[in-house]
Amino acid sequence: MRVAARQLVRDVVQRATRGRLLWRAGSASRRVALTFDDGPHALTARYLDVLAARRVAATFFVMGYYVEKQPAVIGEYLRGGHQLASHGYYHRRFTRQRPDQLLDHLGRTERALGPQREGRWVRPPHGSLGPIDGTALLAAGYTVALWSFDSRDHERAAPEVIAARCGPDKVSPGDVILFHEGQEETLAALPAIIDALRGGGYELVTMADLFGR
Ligand SMILES: [Zn+2]
Repeated sequence: MRVAARQLVRDVVQRATRGRLLWRAGSASRRVALTFDDGPHALTARYLDVLAARRVAATFFVMGYYVEKQPAVIGEYLRGGHQLASHGYYHRRFTRQRPDQLLDHLGRTERALGPQREGRWVRPPHGSLGPIDGTALLAAGYTVALWSFDSRDHERAAPEVIAARCGPDKVSPGDVILFHEGQEETLAALPAIIDALRGGGYELVTMADLFGR
């Protein structure tokens, strides 16, 4: 019953927002999306190497301020076949910014990212989303991307702990899995996570692909 209720809420919200507030896809196919927040970072190249070696396409939510400082990183993400999306200009909660200031910062971030074939996706820092900023984002045409499965990798547990937490017995079809860039523990856990999920029959896709965009 709880699963059915959650599914109902998801369907209603996704219809009301015309499918532009997303956190979990349908469970019809055994697919999940790996998503990475807070880049770019000094470890970005190593994350990309791990994903490239296993031919995994993921979604990266990056901050405009840091992208402006190292614009070449955009090409590195895109060459890996990854989806690139906005995580705001600085890592400031959208709920604490005036809508005009928020949209100004997001516009600046978009210019730093360049046009993206999947469209304009944004993930609010900390996942905090209020009615005013949420409405402003949707009205401005953004797809707002949250997540359904938190790896809690920001707690900096050992790689084996993070990997066990994200095993195929823990995630469900349609999940959007949250990770962070710039963390040695996450980087170390990533090969085991990818191999275990695939071993469990999961296909790993970008968030846009997961939602058929
Ligand atoms: Zn973040």
